[in-house]
Amino acid sequence: MSDKAKFQAIKGVRDILPPESALWNRVEQTAREVFATFGFVEIRLPILEQRELFDRSIGGETDIVSKEMYGIASPLLVIKGMLLGESKFPGLKRDSSEYLRFLMSLSAFLVVARDALQSKELGAQNERSIHELDHAFQAGLTHFPNADPSRESERQQLRKDVGELVSRIEVEDLSLRPEATASVVRAYIEHGMQMLPGNVKLYYMGPMFRRERPQKGRYRQFYQIGAEVLGSSDAPGIDAEVIEMLMMLFERLNLKGAVLNINSIGDKNCRPAYVEKLRAELQKVREHLGEDSKRRIETNPLRVLDSKLESEQGIIANLPRIADHLCRDCRAHYDEVKRQLGLRGIAYQENWRLVRGLDYYMRTTFEITAPGLGSQNAVCGGGRYDGLVELLGGPATTKGIGFAIGTDRLVLSLQEAGEGETPGGLAGKAGGLDVYLAWFGAAAQSAAIGLAGRLRDAGFVVELPAVEMKFGKSLGLADRLKARHAVIVGDDELAAGVVTVKRLSDGTQQKLGEQELFSYLRAVQSAGD
Ligand code: AMP
Repeated sequence: MSDKAKFQAIKGVRDILPPESALWNRVEQTAREVFATFGFVEIRLPILEQRELFDRSIGGETDIVSKEMYGIASPLLVIKGMLLGESKFPGLKRDSSEYLRFLMSLSAFLVVARDALQSKELGAQNERSIHELDHAFQAGLTHFPNADPSRESERQQLRKDVGELVSRIEVEDLSLRPEATASVVRAYIEHGMQMLPGNVKLYYMGPMFRRERPQKGRYRQFYQIGAEVLGSSDAPGIDAEVIEMLMMLFERLNLKGAVLNINSIGDKNCRPAYVEKLRAELQKVREHLGEDSKRRIETNPLRVLDSKLESEQGIIANLPRIADHLCRDCRAHYDEVKRQLGLRGIAYQENWRLVRGLDYYMRTTFEITAPGLGSQNAVCGGGRYDGLVELLGGPATTKGIGFAIGTDRLVLSLQEAGEGETPGGLAGKAGGLDVYLAWFGAAAQSAAIGLAGRLRDAGFVVELPAVEMKFGKSLGLADRLKARHAVIVGDDELAAGVVTVKRLSDGTQQKLGEQELFSYLRAVQSAGD
């Protein structure tokens, strides 16, 4: 990059600028208020986690984990990956330069690993494997340094041994989080929260990272506001209350046109049989499906139901529906969730195609769509995940349900509906600058600094010029900043113990003592003028 090249935010990430940031604050503040009334408390989670946490929870075969996660590439991790890749195909015929490269990678790995051992970045438990790798390297170097065909089998064995030893070395492998449910569950287990009375109700908000193809409503750094309920109960009333809380938030934010879709995807008793049935039906229509769906017949047939491909819609409409294959318990749970939504006056649409591709999700799933978002119209996804706590090493009896709102999309939808226009809504304040405090002369500066402090203490928004300006320039700036009032302090005012207050909307001005100034500003504020 040349010296003069300008820096720009990287692809798929963006700045959230004022006044839009005021709307973000309003959304987040409203979420805090609404969630608190349901007894939820905030958990602040790290953005970096072990990659393994997401491998295990979201699943290595999903797009999120296999393609979209941002890892932290340490040199040790990179070379480990290279060596593992090398050793995967020990029988492959290679030429002498490749063999040399392999030895060089191994040598580089050893140099970095020894350093990491010394700085304790690598745990002492790895010492033995590193020692053995050292031996393997020496053997490779001294016994068969070239591609002598007669020693090919020994070289292959060496690659295999090295692969095994390297895979045993526990190199820290970190990722930026692509979502936060796994982190909440990790924290729940790590801090023994199952000992807490009742259900544990947590909410979080913050950035998530996925290397997706950016488009409207889809970013690589995006934000979620989410909540999770963890505990021993899976009562349908919990599901209904979580959804009620969401709908209350959207209503409080004046989000118009939000549609709640719900479904039940069964549990480990009834879903496998349904999935097999679905797979069998999909096999029959295989040649009419697109490439993605064809692949999913094997990997994850449920995800075919997600497909937006026009040509597949007719086929999908005739596929078996999970609602017809729920076991008795799942059906009863689903019926009760719906009854309880009814008790709360919450309108919903049943959508049998609403699925979650991950195994640990079960029973209730829901999604909320909002207008103004184009094809990325889901503002919130959620569901029950009773198996996840156990999957991550916690008690098998712990159940869970939660949701994640896409904050970017929520804000976008509010803006499209004109809700983003007013910078206000912040703690009931109309926003903007109450007072531009113009001062002229050194004595006035000291008086103005004191007055600005007292005005701010009283909650007024005050702009105090840092340097002295000519009268016209100073008042011109007050205008451009759209201040409501210019309060002027000069020698005359100081002598008389007053300030001059100029209302900038109509230019009227008056001289007031400090107490009168405060009363006047308060009156203006409460009149919402
Ligand atoms: P998920 O964690 O995939 O269930 O997503 C939950 C919600 O997060 C979605 O309904 C979206 O509103 C939002 N979301 C997911 N991925 C992105 C993204 N790349 N950009 C913006 N919002 C997203």
